Amino acid sequence: MGKYRTVLLDADMTLLDFHRSERASLTKVLAAHGLPHDDGVAATYSKINDALWKSMARGEVDQDYLVVERFAALMRVLDSDEDPRVLNREYEQGLGLEAYLLPGAMEFCQRLRAGGLELAIATNGLPAAQWGRYRRTGLDKVIPHLLVSVELGAQKPQTAYFDRALEALGVTDRTSVVMVGDSLESDIYGGNRAGIDTVWYNPNGLPLSGPAVPTYTAASYDEIAALLLD
Ligand SMILES: [Mg+2]
Repeated sequence: MGKYRTVLLDADMTLLDFHRSERASLTKVLAAHGLPHDDGVAATYSKINDALWKSMARGEVDQDYLVVERFAALMRVLDSDEDPRVLNREYEQGLGLEAYLLPGAMEFCQRLRAGGLELAIATNGLPAAQWGRYRRTGLDKVIPHLLVSVELGAQKPQTAYFDRALEALGVTDRTSVVMVGDSLESDIYGGNRAGIDTVWYNPNGLPLSGPAVPTYTAASYDEIAALLLD
């Protein structure tokens, strides 16, 4: 048994292929409304959406604004008068149906669980999308807890998110917890601020940037499992 007992796992781009889900749901919604939905439009949407999530992380906008504005901005680019609220609602409903694990993710989670670790998903995102994909991928059979930011009233990297997540899990000894995720800004910096160890899952070999200081960096699920189970 290694040092850790509880593993907080990020969802999107750590276990789940969010990019594929996003693209599939976006394409369906735009096509259903007779709007263009080629690679260029998808890239424009992603850029708008990413910028808004970063604004929200800085406290500049709230989530109600974000979810409507991302489609309002896209409609301005497309010169369309479709209702952004309707588009967002259909998109969010669709996102929960487009569930794709990253290759090897299920086996990785099963291996951690077999090693006696308590697993929880710690994710920023919208409940319908996160719960829908958690169940459809079968992750709910292996990971007993899903801690969605909106439902906790705080998001990574806020310390309040980790406080509430650990309280929900009944964990008091923070040295027994490790946060695993692909995002330096939310997963690793959040873990740093909450006083818990972190594993930066960095399969693409990105350079370290910003204030986050990962305890470990790993390029594959095998490397993470070796760190946590040794
Ligand atoms: Mg992520």
